[in-house]
Amino acid sequence: MGAEVEALKRQGKNIVEFHIGQPDFKTPKNINLKAIESIEKGDICKYTSSAGKYELREAAAKWFSETRKTKAGKNMNVKPESIVVSAGGKPFIEYSVLCTTDYGKGDEVIFPVPGYPIYESQAKLHGCKPVPLYLRQKNEFNFDIDELREKVNDNTRLLILNSPHNPTGGVLSRKELEEISDIVLEKENLWVYSDEVYSRMVYGQEFCSIASICEEMQERTIMVDCVSKTYAMPGWRIGFMSNELLQKEMANCVTNTVSCASHVGQDAVLEALMGCQEKPQEMYEEFKERSELITEKLNEIQGVKCLKPGGAFYVWPNVTELCEKTRITQYCFEENEKLSREGLLTDETRYYPSEELRKKLLYEADISVVADIHFGQKVPGEGEHIRFSYATSKELIIKGTRRMKQWVDVNM
Ligand code: PLP
Repeated sequence: MGAEVEALKRQGKNIVEFHIGQPDFKTPKNINLKAIESIEKGDICKYTSSAGKYELREAAAKWFSETRKTKAGKNMNVKPESIVVSAGGKPFIEYSVLCTTDYGKGDEVIFPVPGYPIYESQAKLHGCKPVPLYLRQKNEFNFDIDELREKVNDNTRLLILNSPHNPTGGVLSRKELEEISDIVLEKENLWVYSDEVYSRMVYGQEFCSIASICEEMQERTIMVDCVSKTYAMPGWRIGFMSNELLQKEMANCVTNTVSCASHVGQDAVLEALMGCQEKPQEMYEEFKERSELITEKLNEIQGVKCLKPGGAFYVWPNVTELCEKTRITQYCFEENEKLSREGLLTDETRYYPSEELRKKLLYEADISVVADIHFGQKVPGEGEHIRFSYATSKELIIKGTRRMKQWVDVNM
């Protein structure tokens, strides 16, 4: 889809881009300067240990401890020996599936839908049964605890959580995490992958990690964070995980894949975590203001219902009514009927209203968004959604939402 947008831009189209899942800010200068200093010293030409430089593991442990609080408001206790550094947060999804499941043995991996598509693809790639856990608007895009209870069985090996959540912006509360912990701790062989890459982007509530619920839960949780979002460093490819019991296996995965994370990246991230936090704080404030602005602007458009996100930098408006009133839903229905009559209707050929709307917004209103079908199968009964990333300026948020409003006003 990114390529589709780039092709239109090369043809001279001026697209307001809401499809991009990375900060629009530059990496703070103190971090860049640290990287330059390291390059000039010359050591960065060498490998580091697979688990990462010890200084960085110490810094990551301190950072995890200070940014995650227990119920009593105390810092979590994370040790450097529990930390592994890798090339971004993403590789830990694969490493965790490898470390906790056996190929082809019927092991099950539960993951949120809609959700980051890599969860499902990694579960499939490594011979597990993917089990979707649906997130619904009525629960502010958190899941139903009873639905989780029903889906956990003796074959479940890994439960993937993501809070704050991509694509909905939903955030799990401490109470919800306590309820989830109760379910997890009843089972002996169930691990939790807690994807916390948006942990520093929570608006108006406390961020809570499931690992902070109790010591047993910390043992069971593969807690993952990265610098891609908080420090505007996605291209530097550095992330870290904490889990005492799986630390050696995770480091072994790094040895067998990338050997170690980029050495210069590790030095830069040491500065990110330990250096001045003024710039990341400014970025956070800006994201928070944008989250309010985009929610307000989208709710001014006929047929759109948008919840205020609790975190990350995405909104997930419901556009079911918009698709109906612009007759996109009817069009999809008719096309699917035709395909069905010809025996050609499959998941690949099917017309989806959210995706047709995405195309219309791109080609007719010059704005790029992502349709729900790109975040896993459709959630039964949830209607149509599209994702807007507000990793773009306030001016462009105003301009882009105005374009959408004009398109809707003409086409309704
Ligand atoms: N997890 C989620 C939920 C994400 O949205 C992303 C990136 O968009 C990642 C993991 C990957 O993070 P990284 O760039 O550090 O690999």
